[in-house]
Amino acid sequence: MQRAKLELPNKADKLLLHSCCAPCSGEVMEAIIASGIDFSIFFYNPNIHPVKEYLIRKEENIRFAEKHNIPFIDCDYDTDNWFERAKGMENEPERGIRCTMCFDMRFERTALYAHEHGFPVISSSLGISRWKDMKQINGCGERAASHYPDMTYWDYNWRKGGGSSRMIEISKQEEFYQQEYCGCVYSLRDTNRFRKSQGRERIKLGVKFYSAMSNEE
Ligand code: SF4
Repeated sequence: MQRAKLELPNKADKLLLHSCCAPCSGEVMEAIIASGIDFSIFFYNPNIHPVKEYLIRKEENIRFAEKHNIPFIDCDYDTDNWFERAKGMENEPERGIRCTMCFDMRFERTALYAHEHGFPVISSSLGISRWKDMKQINGCGERAASHYPDMTYWDYNWRKGGGSSRMIEISKQEEFYQQEYCGCVYSLRDTNRFRKSQGRERIKLGVKFYSAMSNEE
């Protein structure tokens, strides 16, 4: 498989990659590995609810990082902070201000860790999903990096050059867990409400996995 050779901005030598989950970061990680870039995974996602779902998503990500010998930094699951910041935004729609808060929070922690541990560049796998607003994500990443004079947020578009389809291929090969909602309790509630309106069953946690036979996209 031919991939474009990636280069970090400002000829930097090290990247801290925030990862939201294994399906989104699988292709991002393989593209970075193929380019010979030195990087570590930073898993900080206190938005994910409930803890059962959080642990499944995290374990999948650890498994894939270990397979490629990529350092995995397992940050806090400080849900109290997340719920405190989400107060008053419980009924906001996806891609609205609650999501800006959620991305800000995750990027702020990523940037702080990067600053304290000598990573000049940060990025995230969040933007590869077609359900997400890339402009919104990049704005949050840039805002977090701007607090540190020597830090750059890398706004590489992971969807391009076939990245979106490879994300699905890798998920099938690895038989990753396939989450059915964005992550927070409000996205779980809203997805279930939508399903109900369509006469579909509620989401069952921990049961759906990608498989080579599935035709999910
Ligand atoms: S919908 Fe997703 S991005 Fe938005 S607040 Fe919930 S977990 Fe965060």
